[in-house]
Amino acid sequence: MKVTEHIKKANGKTLFSFEIIPPKKGKNIQELYDNIDPLMEFKPPFIDVTTSREEYVYVEKDGLLDRKITRMRPGTVGICAAIKHKYNVDTVPHVLCGGFSKEETEYLLVDCHYLGIENIMALRGDAMSHQKYFEPSNGGHSYACDLVKQITNLNKGKYLHEVIEADDKADFCIGVAGYPEKHLEAPSLQSDLKRLKEKVDSGADYVVTQMFFDNSKFFAFVKAAKDMGIDVPIIPGIKPIAIKRHLQLLPQVFKIDLPEELILEVEKCKSNAEVRQVGVEWCIKQSKELVEAGVPTVHYYSMGKSSNIQKIAEAVF
Ligand code: FAD
Repeated sequence: MKVTEHIKKANGKTLFSFEIIPPKKGKNIQELYDNIDPLMEFKPPFIDVTTSREEYVYVEKDGLLDRKITRMRPGTVGICAAIKHKYNVDTVPHVLCGGFSKEETEYLLVDCHYLGIENIMALRGDAMSHQKYFEPSNGGHSYACDLVKQITNLNKGKYLHEVIEADDKADFCIGVAGYPEKHLEAPSLQSDLKRLKEKVDSGADYVVTQMFFDNSKFFAFVKAAKDMGIDVPIIPGIKPIAIKRHLQLLPQVFKIDLPEELILEVEKCKSNAEVRQVGVEWCIKQSKELVEAGVPTVHYYSMGKSSNIQKIAEAVF
């Protein structure tokens, strides 16, 4: 079922959903299942599976944390199919512009359709570590909006080189990314919102946001998006702080602000366990307020680990 159909069916009740990361290349999928199992109790209607062009390790360089590439991470579509089958849940593969030509994207989308995957999260992807700016792959898209157009065309039977009056047309529900604190490359929040509107006008059915730690930023973003005529569901994506290093890492990588109160609470912690507790409590507070405000789903970035998300879900859903 489509994400938008799940939202409609919930009839105003806020859903619980989450995102997972494929295991590192060569690692057993069982670890992933062990992390998904405890979250199934909260009945997620869909699970997102990310795509990484590069795997990173974080190394310290000149006092700052620097990302260092190790290798590419395969598995997104295969894991979507495996989880869909194992848990009878809808899955949403993240499909990137970067690293793929339009032809390769078409193959991937056809595979998804044959596997019964009905939702696609259409993203541009980040610049590679060795690049200053994002560079499209040979024959690939430059912006997520162009990928949305390709998927919309496919839904109409328009393939890259031919129009097929197929009796088994794909009908993907398309998600796109939104940024309550603006995308790091965008000159302003307003210009970023205009780009988001272009994605919606090109066929995106819903928006999932970048993580944020201050709900007022999300509420302001939803209002600004509505004022601009963006009328698709906007799903907040959030994540609990899990380690002290997140205080540097999250603003550095995602160009987001952390509230002063949260920073002070985390700085006071004497162990990782205490940091995790502060992170979970903050996320519970955020989640409860979002549910109260009637958001369609609270979407959690699990980063492959379920124990803290489980604690949050137990308190909220
Ligand atoms: P776009 O919508 O293309 O926007 C990118 C930038 O270009 C923005 O600054 C926008 O304002 C600008 N822009 C857009 N169109 C134009 C235009 N025509 N002319 C000039 N400027 C333009 N990354 C991964 O690698 N894998 C993942 O699985 C993944 N999942 C994500 C899930 C969510 C919910 C979110 C919020 C992000 C995710 N990302 C992921 C990160 C994402 O790939 C990066 O943030 C990326 O830098 C931008 O992707 P986008 O789809 O928002 O790009």
